[in-house]
Amino acid sequence: MFAAMAAFRVTYATLSADDEELQASYTAASAEVRSELGAQHPLWIGDDERFGDTFTTVSPVDASIEVGHFTIADADDVDDAVAAAKAAQPAWAATPWQERCDILDRAADLISDRSVVDAAALGWENGKNRLEAIGEVEETADLIRYYTHAMREHDGFAMPMERFSEAEVTSDVMRPYGVWVVIGPFNYPNALIGGPAGAALVAGNAVIAKPSEIGSYSAHLVYRALVDAGVPRGVINILTGGGDVGSALVHHPDVDGVTFTGSSAVGMSIIQSFSVSHPKPAICEMGGKNPVIVTASADLDLAVEGTARSAFGFGGQKCSAASRVFVDASIADEFTARLVARAEAIPATGPLDEGGFLSPVVNQAALDRFEAAVADVHHNGEVLTGGHRLTDGDHGAGYFVAPTVVRVPADSTIMTTELFVPLIAVETVDGLDEALERANAIPFGLTAGLFAEDADEIERFFDQIEAGVVYVNRAAGATTGAWPGVQPFGGWKRSGTAGKLGGGPHYLQQYLREQSRTHVMHD
Ligand code: NAD
Repeated sequence: MFAAMAAFRVTYATLSADDEELQASYTAASAEVRSELGAQHPLWIGDDERFGDTFTTVSPVDASIEVGHFTIADADDVDDAVAAAKAAQPAWAATPWQERCDILDRAADLISDRSVVDAAALGWENGKNRLEAIGEVEETADLIRYYTHAMREHDGFAMPMERFSEAEVTSDVMRPYGVWVVIGPFNYPNALIGGPAGAALVAGNAVIAKPSEIGSYSAHLVYRALVDAGVPRGVINILTGGGDVGSALVHHPDVDGVTFTGSSAVGMSIIQSFSVSHPKPAICEMGGKNPVIVTASADLDLAVEGTARSAFGFGGQKCSAASRVFVDASIADEFTARLVARAEAIPATGPLDEGGFLSPVVNQAALDRFEAAVADVHHNGEVLTGGHRLTDGDHGAGYFVAPTVVRVPADSTIMTTELFVPLIAVETVDGLDEALERANAIPFGLTAGLFAEDADEIERFFDQIEAGVVYVNRAAGATTGAWPGVQPFGGWKRSGTAGKLGGGPHYLQQYLREQSRTHVMHD
């Protein structure tokens, strides 16, 4: 449809790739990127390339490797970036939307052209495995393409309205807001800077990108593709730094809109503090605690595979990762034994090597969180497999932990808190009704999965589950792996503000405000 079809197309549903050319080019790109790690990276504020104090990030694959030294934006940089965006935005908004779409499509094509190199960078930066990293870069390109497609499909969102007389003409148009801040998380630093920035730019806003500290390198690659494609500097700007830089941007009076993707705690604070003088749009996509339900009618092969891929893919650090599974009592023993065996069979191959699946957790704090959760389980429940750090061979240099399956009491915080590590808790239930009640009982509502062969159960799941993205019988990922234009992605309840999902038909409109224009003609 809207996507450029590559010779070998990698999405999150790609389970393996024996395309030799792809593998060889990734291997070469990974070595090339590795030799360039450790560089100094500036801020870009309009045409101004700024260096200053830096922070350093290390690779979770091997913590002795410095990914880069990134400039920390200070208060003046924040003011200047907002001023640069504000100055550049009117000309961008006045650029015909067709031209804006052409520029953004060019950016998407450049991102696709560079996908293997940018994926290799992502692998070093946050430990994402080959296929997932190529998938993420391609997702960035397809998110941007989806938004240009949406703009074209709606003919720029301008439409004639009805009239009371021949002399009166009314049109309805959608206009940009102005300066838009995009704050990204560490786990999808390419797609969740590039996708929202793409939407904001297609709509005619100017953008300041503020990636996660771990993610700054990937965000710079997205910034470069946008500029190379013809987005004017100033219309796109990039500031790096920590939460204080994000907070300073969010609280700047001249910022008109914000898209935040990250934890619920930060997202809720942004929602509650962003609009001070007047209402302003804050699109906040946040955490999850995603359930899988396996009923007595389920195909267990599908259920085990889909649950394992969702729980352990990218070290459990996808917002869509499965971390709770509710299994019907009649099949609980068999399902649990097979899930444990599946977890233990995950090969130890490194994520940057061909065929690698297992990723590290992202940093020492994540490792500490994993170890605290396991200690809690030892106290209150049972570790069925995993529960320890992996230190053999290449794993010793990074933040690797074993895929972990646990059983805990229903009221354990392990069942309610987003841990963001490869740990899943299995709970036995009596039937679908209890499973749905348990799944819906917590404030999160991002993704959910069901394994069942019974048509009535499938319908009840779709009708009653409280989540933005839901899947049935998906072995490629019980709760994970949405793709732009195929599975729009976003959360309900505490997992997201909008209920309008990224890569879906209602997303782009959030970056535009409606204006009704009536012109009364006189002779
Ligand atoms: P995080 O909340 O720690 O940080 C996200 C971003 O917010 C970073 O750029 C950070 O610097 C910035 N930030 C921190 N404090 C801030 C503040 N006070 N004001 C403004 N910005 C601030 O999240 P993370 O650890 O980078 O990412 C993981 C989280 O993101 C998980 O909770 C995950 O579920 C969520 N996530 C959600 C989605 C989704 O689509 N719903 C997608 C990816 C990740």
